[in-house]
Amino acid sequence: MEHKQKVIVIDFGGQYNQLVARRVRENHVYCEITSYRTPLDKIKEMDPMGIILTGGPNSVFEEDSATAPRELFELGVPVLGLCYGAQLMMHVLGGSVDHAPEREYGKTPLTVDDEKSPLFAGLPENSIVWMSHNDYIKTPAAGFHITSHTANCPVASAEDPSRNLYAIQFHPEVLHTEYGKDILKNFVIDVCGCSGDWQMSSFAEKTIKELKEKIGDGKALCALSGGVDSSVAAVLLSKAIGKNLTCVFVDHGLLRKDEGDMVSRVFGPEGPYELNFVRVDAKDLFYSKLAGVTEPEKKRKIIGEEFIRVFEHEAKKIGKVDYLVQGTIYPDVVESGLGGESATIKSHHNVGGLPDYVDFKEIVEPLRYLFKDEVRAVGLHLGIPRELVMRQPFPGPGLGIRIIGDVTEEKVKIVQDADAIFREEMEKAGLNKTAGQYFAALTNMRSVGVMGDERTYDYAIALRAVNTVDFMTADIVEIPYEVLKTVTSRIINEVSHVNRVLYDITSKPPGTIEFE
Ligand code: GLN
Repeated sequence: MEHKQKVIVIDFGGQYNQLVARRVRENHVYCEITSYRTPLDKIKEMDPMGIILTGGPNSVFEEDSATAPRELFELGVPVLGLCYGAQLMMHVLGGSVDHAPEREYGKTPLTVDDEKSPLFAGLPENSIVWMSHNDYIKTPAAGFHITSHTANCPVASAEDPSRNLYAIQFHPEVLHTEYGKDILKNFVIDVCGCSGDWQMSSFAEKTIKELKEKIGDGKALCALSGGVDSSVAAVLLSKAIGKNLTCVFVDHGLLRKDEGDMVSRVFGPEGPYELNFVRVDAKDLFYSKLAGVTEPEKKRKIIGEEFIRVFEHEAKKIGKVDYLVQGTIYPDVVESGLGGESATIKSHHNVGGLPDYVDFKEIVEPLRYLFKDEVRAVGLHLGIPRELVMRQPFPGPGLGIRIIGDVTEEKVKIVQDADAIFREEMEKAGLNKTAGQYFAALTNMRSVGVMGDERTYDYAIALRAVNTVDFMTADIVEIPYEVLKTVTSRIINEVSHVNRVLYDITSKPPGTIEFE
């Protein structure tokens, strides 16, 4: 997908590389991350209006450290170096970088020395910035002057406005830097001259037009999960090629309460979109394959494998398709090590290896360059119901892994009903706005209770609610007792075979976000 105005983020392996790109895009400027290994010619071809060099773990003066050619700074394109990127700019252009006598980490007071610096326009003289470095710029390269400092860092930033080169030792992309957003905005809008008109609405219109041109009369196939990404991808394709798109929705019987019907309402023949919709009711097949299986990894495997088998079976009925549609999004691409420089964090099912179980020519991934919140914005723009667009992340194996022990149809019903009550009460209490992810899980524990003077021997439901920024760590949400009490009494009263409700207050680590 071509975007006229773009900024390129050159990735030196810093931990905040995706954040840098997000912050640029928050200014409605399109931006892509590329590895520092990308050849200069390729960068020229990308025709950027600005270049940002990220932080990185190395020291610029060590052999084999990630580097950049001098010519990168001579393209006539504004360059902003952040932390490692700043040190590298100085190192390559003849300044000196060394181990700092005092390393800096965390929130640090900054003093601006040159109030005329375009980066600091509109900023107060003193503010707080986020530092994270062992090395420092001892002397800036010729032509540069110092524009700010901190107590331990004589060159917190330097610039040569005549060449449009800017170096910043701190991290403006991190929210702890008080005016970080303003600094990045000053760079992309004022220094680079980007107009800031990259909109999700224009993205949608443009993508639909491009898909139309690319696919023409060809046929496309999409596996619809009902999740945000595949739904938005499907709607884009439907608007581009209508009935030449077939969406296969495999209902494995492990979805949340009424979820399958909701997907059918949106994408089925009664819904607003033109496409071929195939809903496969594979409940019984999945329940029989899962019968007696208690080990969580094994359950995940079975569900994943059966899913592919069912999809394949349906795809074969359609025959040869030209395109397979996938809802890959930008973090998938970057985390797979394809977009930037960060180590492969996980191999993502959507990226790289092509599934061999469907006969098709090519994969289309219309959301490949978008972050999750951008995908949501496109979804809302396309008129996909808010409840579908804003829904919480849900694991592929579904409720299969929110049931401890073996999975049965009865247990699925229990956890669906309990989960629906929990979500309803969280929404009523307005907690859905602050809690990241919350759900009910069915423990495999049964215990004695008493209801209506009668002894019961029934299951315990576990409630889980967490907040997470990066999915690597998570804190529990402190749900008020009043809400917990309402949820508990409703679950006990309305869901049969539950006589206890427990609230999980384990953070991650040591727990995981899911309860399996
Ligand atoms: N490794 C460099 C240093 O320690 C750069 C650090 C960074 O980019 N955050 O100074």
